[in-house]
Amino acid sequence: MGRRPIVGGNWKCNPAEISKLDGLVANINACDTSGCDVYVCPSPLHVGLVYNKFTNGACVAPQNCNFKGCGAYTGEMAVDQMVDMGMKWCLIGHSERRGEFGLPTPVESSELLATKCKYILEKGMKCIYAIGEPLPIREKGIDAVLAYCVEQLTPFKDILDPETVVLAYEPVWSIGTGVTATPEQAQETHAAIRKWISENVSPACAEGIRIQYGGSANAKNAPELSACADVDGFLVGGASLKPEFAEIVAAIA
Ligand code: PEP
Repeated sequence: MGRRPIVGGNWKCNPAEISKLDGLVANINACDTSGCDVYVCPSPLHVGLVYNKFTNGACVAPQNCNFKGCGAYTGEMAVDQMVDMGMKWCLIGHSERRGEFGLPTPVESSELLATKCKYILEKGMKCIYAIGEPLPIREKGIDAVLAYCVEQLTPFKDILDPETVVLAYEPVWSIGTGVTATPEQAQETHAAIRKWISENVSPACAEGIRIQYGGSANAKNAPELSACADVDGFLVGGASLKPEFAEIVAAIA
């Protein structure tokens, strides 16, 4: 059986006004989910306002979680709270969470993210784990790109499971920049990641695990990227705030 496509909409720190949420929810509810899993990552302040508003099976996936649970963790979100609200998915490892938006040192290491992932899985939820290289690494070529991604994947070696983990390959240079990876770049990188999983986890895991592409995906470039054998869906930022999100879902479904 082929891999079921999966598309996520990352609303990041948007919208500014609660009054805009209904429109964003409507964009998601317009998606045909019969051939594709869909999840949405609302801003933390808005999760509680929208988590039960999706009528087509789209799930809410918070943009982050802590690694400890409930208690004295100011500003954090616990997986236990997500479970209580009926959530099934959580996103971790986005480059904007790792700290690749101008902070002097990375905030979240891959080792910490593996700890978060174990916590998510232990509580019965599923995890979307984002990886991807910055521009100077891409400029060195595919071997350097793979080595960078492998470093991010290595702490996850024992927990990669097609049933519970989805990978989102998001080259940092393409997130929010309007510069999309070419279908050749996306396919080559996804295939290399899958090969590494085959050799270092298991062929069955490599065959089953879904790898989304993320980075300036939109309704225009989604059809070509969807045709790539190893692209199993998208993690969409900017275009998930627009009606075209449904077209991206339709392109891969
Ligand atoms: C993202 O936020 O994960 C993302 C890929 O953003 P954009 O689609 O805007 O590049």
